[in-house]
Amino acid sequence: AKSAGRNAAVLFTREMAEGVHSRRTLEENLRLAWRDRRFALHYQPIVELASGRVVACEALMRWPVEGKGFVSPAEFIPLAEQMGLIVPMGAWAIRQACLDAAAWPFDADVAVNVSAIQFRDPDDLVRSVEIALADSGLDPARLELEVTESLLIDDADETLAAMRRLRALGVKLALDDFGTGYASIGYLARYPFTKVKIDRSFAQLVATDDTSRAIIETICALAHRFDLTVVVEGIETCTQADEIARLGAEFAQGYLFAKPLDGAGLQTLLAHPGLC
Ligand code: C2E
Ligand code: CA
Ligand code: CA
Ligand code: CA
Repeated sequence: AKSAGRNAAVLFTREMAEGVHSRRTLEENLRLAWRDRRFALHYQPIVELASGRVVACEALMRWPVEGKGFVSPAEFIPLAEQMGLIVPMGAWAIRQACLDAAAWPFDADVAVNVSAIQFRDPDDLVRSVEIALADSGLDPARLELEVTESLLIDDADETLAAMRRLRALGVKLALDDFGTGYASIGYLARYPFTKVKIDRSFAQLVATDDTSRAIIETICALAHRFDLTVVVEGIETCTQADEIARLGAEFAQGYLFAKPLDGAGLQTLLAHPGLC
């Protein structure tokens, strides 16, 4: 048992060293990729269930790596946040999304994810949104910023002030990943959100689990009372789409309708409607 313990300790150290090494490599690669602006935005449609119409497209950042496809944002966004790189990267995403949307031959909104880190300097965030809108000429009402509840547990007053300034520009605000953490329905009333996005973990269970159904139905009813619209994320089957519509959600996003697409893919999809 003693030698097994010693072996285990050695193994652990080596794995830790490899972990540190690959993290450093990833950090360095991320820094270089950002320096050379080697990032792209892909877009995933958000669909109105009643009509099948694409009402918005969510911009999702992609880091293409030669011969390896893409590094997942789940991997590089948290790192970019720790490195502070998310501030300029996030500003780039907002501006690029506005430029892209202004050139679309359809008038869908464009949704951009904004990290809580970007809200730590509210003046800088508001300024980058103003610049993006001015440079693109996009109608501010077509820009929607998606934030997660991690933003709301920081500094409530500062955050609220920043959100109000963005709303005053005409920009919409969505609460992302709703239902996964500590955000209560009270947040929907207290902060100036226009939309709530129910996390995809609920979509996965909606066809089989009464509790998930009850939660979605309750969120929809309360959101509507506060004049918010509801999107359910991660819809993969027609059964799930039918079920969430029945429970009161008006919008859906997920692989059933489309995966995130590059610019060309998005144009092709929207030129040939008839998704579900
Ligand atoms: P998110 O904002 O919740 O984005 C939705 C994620 O769910 C996307 O993953 C999307 O590809 C995936 N998804 C959509 N439909 C389905 C479905 O039907 N089934 C399944 N299994 N997945 C689906 P993605 O593109 O890998 O992005 C992961 C996360 O990275 C995003 O989650 C968001 O939190 C973050 N992220 C992406 N781009 C940005 C960005 O520009 N800025 C910031 N701050 N975060 C970003
Ligand atoms: Ca999002
Ligand atoms: Ca989400
Ligand atoms: Ca998420």
